[in-house]
Amino acid sequence: MFDINAIRADFPILNQKVNGKPLVYFDNAATSQKPQVVIDAITQYYSTINANIHRGVHTLSQLATDAYEASRQTVQQHINAKHSHEVLFTSGTTHGINLVASGFTQFVKAGDYIMVSALEHHSNIVPWQMLCERTGATLQVIPMNEKGELIMEEFDRLISEKTKIVAVNHISNALGTINPIKYIIDRAHASGAAVFIDGAQAAPHLKPDVQALDADFYAFSGHKTCGPTGSGILYGKEEWLEKLPPYQGGGEMIKEVTFEKTTYAGLPHKFEAGTPHIEGGIVLGTAIDYLNGVGFDAIAAYEQNLLEYGNQKLLEIDGMELIGTAAEKASVISFNLKGIHPYDVGTLVDKMGIAVRTGHHCAQPVMNAFCIPGTIRASFAFYNTKEEIDALVAAVKKAQMMLS
Ligand SMILES: *Cc1c(COP(=O)(O)O)cnc(C)c1O
Repeated sequence: MFDINAIRADFPILNQKVNGKPLVYFDNAATSQKPQVVIDAITQYYSTINANIHRGVHTLSQLATDAYEASRQTVQQHINAKHSHEVLFTSGTTHGINLVASGFTQFVKAGDYIMVSALEHHSNIVPWQMLCERTGATLQVIPMNEKGELIMEEFDRLISEKTKIVAVNHISNALGTINPIKYIIDRAHASGAAVFIDGAQAAPHLKPDVQALDADFYAFSGHKTCGPTGSGILYGKEEWLEKLPPYQGGGEMIKEVTFEKTTYAGLPHKFEAGTPHIEGGIVLGTAIDYLNGVGFDAIAAYEQNLLEYGNQKLLEIDGMELIGTAAEKASVISFNLKGIHPYDVGTLVDKMGIAVRTGHHCAQPVMNAFCIPGTIRASFAFYNTKEEIDALVAAVKKAQMMLS
């Protein structure tokens, strides 16, 4: 295990009071905090090598390009992609999903199916619904059980040769369920469907191996993975990225432009039109290096410990209802207190310095399935502690007393 005090010292934002109380940051599933090395790398970039990339012959442009491409290789190695040109820089998970859903327009026709799951974030539902509207395809949904686990028998029953792509998350943001994506990928491939994995909630907790998974696409966001907002990654298998049309037209993504015809650049540039978020792309690599330095095995073990402790302590509160009790879970606890609106609890615990998320967590269909307006969600990162969980439990009890 690691030295938690040393880890916490890496995150300057944690060392402050909010509303007069020590900050307890439990909204990591919405965005993670940033370690000092990431904050420094942003300043360093703008103080030393800022220039546009892939175009200048001058030295700074070359240095910025080298740093950007080095970060692409960091990500390639991290996710074990076969080629660095299979790693595209995006503005985040949402961008990656839209890029693929848009590109699939030409592979989908009326009568086909697009499959998502009952556990998806809105950003892994709406772009696929828009694809269905454009093409006349129908959306299929893998249902879940009362624990918040996807029902694999139903998935087996639903999938057919008419299913063109299956888009599921690796880990659910609303409930923390870890989905059996290897099974889904293998079964989908057996019937000829491609698979898109939304890894937004997985990348902060584990090291995905896209070749071992055999994923066709895997997307995540920099900002949930200790990196800057507006940075993200879309991995796509070479054969798919070759087949998909460009998403946006512009500079950087072309080979030759005339008014009669334009030819496109090769991978990855075909999908990277315009000046990208250069600093974001570079610093995302710094964030991934930092996380690997801490070690994903250590992170997973420590966070599972927090999850067990949090479950146990929260369940000691009268009227506690845990929402999402899957056997395989990441360190996310969604809960409600009997007879009390989640928003009221969130507002009161904030007054006690504790940041949790309340509401539907961009997953209204999940809330509808449980017939609740929302939940209180505490999502733990490797820089959180059991003492902070104790503070949450005390605050929730106090809020409960004030509200009942
Ligand atoms: C956060 C999240 C997204 C969207 O990510 P953005 O960074 O907002 O683009 C998609 N899916 C899941 C599971 C998420 O948690």
